Amino acid sequence: MPTFDPKLSLHGDAAMYQWGAHPLTDGSVAYLQPNGGLGESNVGLVVGDGASCVIDTCWDPTQARRMLAEFDPWLADNPITTVVNTHSNGDHWWGNSLMPDEAVIVTSKASLGAMRDESPLALTAMRASLGLACRLPLPGRWGRTTRQGNHEFAPFDFASVRRRFPDTTFTGRTELNVGGRVLELREVGPAHTAGDLMVFDHGSGVVFGGDILFIDQTPIMWEGPAQNWVAALEQIITFGPTCIVPGHGPLATLGQVESLRTYFQWLAERAEHFHAKGESAQDATLDMLRSEEFATSNWATWRRPEVLVAGVGAEYRRLDGKTGSPNQFAMANTMIAIRSVAEALAR
Ligand SMILES: [Zn+2]
Repeated sequence: MPTFDPKLSLHGDAAMYQWGAHPLTDGSVAYLQPNGGLGESNVGLVVGDGASCVIDTCWDPTQARRMLAEFDPWLADNPITTVVNTHSNGDHWWGNSLMPDEAVIVTSKASLGAMRDESPLALTAMRASLGLACRLPLPGRWGRTTRQGNHEFAPFDFASVRRRFPDTTFTGRTELNVGGRVLELREVGPAHTAGDLMVFDHGSGVVFGGDILFIDQTPIMWEGPAQNWVAALEQIITFGPTCIVPGHGPLATLGQVESLRTYFQWLAERAEHFHAKGESAQDATLDMLRSEEFATSNWATWRRPEVLVAGVGAEYRRLDGKTGSPNQFAMANTMIAIRSVAEALAR
């Protein structure tokens, strides 16, 4: 495992914003992990009177310990009594085992169902096989795929993860009282995943958006439909937040939330257009990335444009009347193939 340097992202790039705990307003804190890439997920903290709530818990125990150390000044008198997991991807809940035994962990019912399919063992095996494959002289696309995959997964210690599932679930909406602070949890999935939820802190006006918010990078829509994602973003805009904490990336502005909404409206409209023409999801994605609309859009500069293909695939499944999620490993391979085209376009 590489040594930790707060001036670098976990993937070794220069940090584009400040790592660590950022006090927001009225006892709300954001813990940011630059640059918001794979596994560089953010965490929220809401501090009440003698009790605190942590929102998401990172991808592995090392990351979770680092996060807890940053929160220590607030936790000394206000221990963690409640934990919220915003969705089922491991980078938001595999640190749950580091939370106090007595803390109650809450998520949506749909997220708990999807969490059972997220396996640290499978990622440990994949990480090991990518490491081995990198030593082989694999040609062309296969070589690129393994090298990129190895680079992306190398910073994480999945073998040390002990899954601790949430204790309680809800559907629709619920409220939590954390030392006198009232937090509203709203289920907004399926969108990024099957059971996404967002946390609205009415006292401070802070919204913790989970992976409904990827900032400065293309959001990945595993489940969809885009229409649910648009509706979730509209809830944030209507709330009129004082501060917006994304699942990945720096603290967000309302303008960035509005750009995400326009992106998903564009994605849905274009996917429908190319689906009607009979184009495959992969060809439609390439056409969208090559279009003038894309080149002049707010999202042309977002990192990881290739993840658009997952969103187009999700819209195609909806248009075909299908349900269920894609195979994430197969999708990752498709995204890497599209990345080389996107990089060529950017040059
Ligand atoms: Zn995430």
